[in-house]
Amino acid sequence: MIIMSSFSKRKDVRLNKALQRLCCFVLVFLVLAFSNLPKAQAYNFNGFVLSNPTNISYSISSTVGGYISGMSNFVEIWSGFCSEVSFAQQAWTGTENIGIYGNLNLSNGTYAICAHANNNRHVITLFNDYTQATSVEQHETIVHEVGHALGSAHCQPAQESKSVMRANDFNNKPYPLSDDRAGISALYGY
Ligand SMILES: [Zn+2]
Repeated sequence: MIIMSSFSKRKDVRLNKALQRLCCFVLVFLVLAFSNLPKAQAYNFNGFVLSNPTNISYSISSTVGGYISGMSNFVEIWSGFCSEVSFAQQAWTGTENIGIYGNLNLSNGTYAICAHANNNRHVITLFNDYTQATSVEQHETIVHEVGHALGSAHCQPAQESKSVMRANDFNNKPYPLSDDRAGISALYGY
């Protein structure tokens, strides 16, 4: 009787462990399922993908005038937050992966745009509103436009506090935020 009792106790222990495993499995499944929900509402891509993300050539045209000072920091800041990308500045040739150009006298209600010729050629143009912005806004504008050149589109509105790729206004954080880093990792991660 004692032996039987001991057996049944062991059985109980096994059952409990099996139940625990099942619960763990269900819990892991639920965590995975729910962690996928915010992802569906996160970063967006614009369809362009650089073929050489670890050696992205860029240049800043003299047409940006006095704003050129320190601008390269806010191009290359992407590589400080995203190990998947790195940059090499060069003199303007018109063929670099990213060219930054100034049309600073044109008032069109826009700080800047990024035009895409193909996967590997993107031209950022700064307009008059850029010259009216605060220096932090100017820096955030450069980070944002380079984000377009890297392949990021505007984020979902719900992610605006976590992304430099917000369609309007500023976070006053001139660097890639968590949603941006997740996007670059998804696009270029190895
Ligand atoms: Zn934009």
